[in-house]
Amino acid sequence: MTDAEILEENLSSVNGLPDGWADLYRRLVHDVHAIDAQLRVTQAKEKFGELRVYMEAYNKSVYTIIDEASRQSRFLCQTCGEAGVLSRTNDGFYATVCPKHSSGFKPAMSPMRHLRMVAPPDQEPETGDGA
Ligand SMILES: [Zn+2]
Repeated sequence: MTDAEILEENLSSVNGLPDGWADLYRRLVHDVHAIDAQLRVTQAKEKFGELRVYMEAYNKSVYTIIDEASRQSRFLCQTCGEAGVLSRTNDGFYATVCPKHSSGFKPAMSPMRHLRMVAPPDQEPETGDGA
């Protein structure tokens, strides 16, 4: 595939994401493209109220900017893109929402952030899903 085709394919994964994160995701794809134009996104989704982007392969720079985009998504309403707070419903459904879209939600700590805190500090990031 050409660089342009890969960029287009990566950008098309925005269709599987909440609307409020579309701009964040598009910026991330362009940033990844600037580092390595042949890197392909295998999956982009919302998980525990956070943007999750999985690549076919990683390098340290790409891992860092994906991690940063995930961090930013915890402060952007996934419905409208305004300032939001990571929240959960009483039955354990997570979402990042602004006051306007927070019906049924209460602010929450990220379960993923908790996992990161207990991980060894010198652990290398995973190098892709089963690659
Ligand atoms: Zn909102």
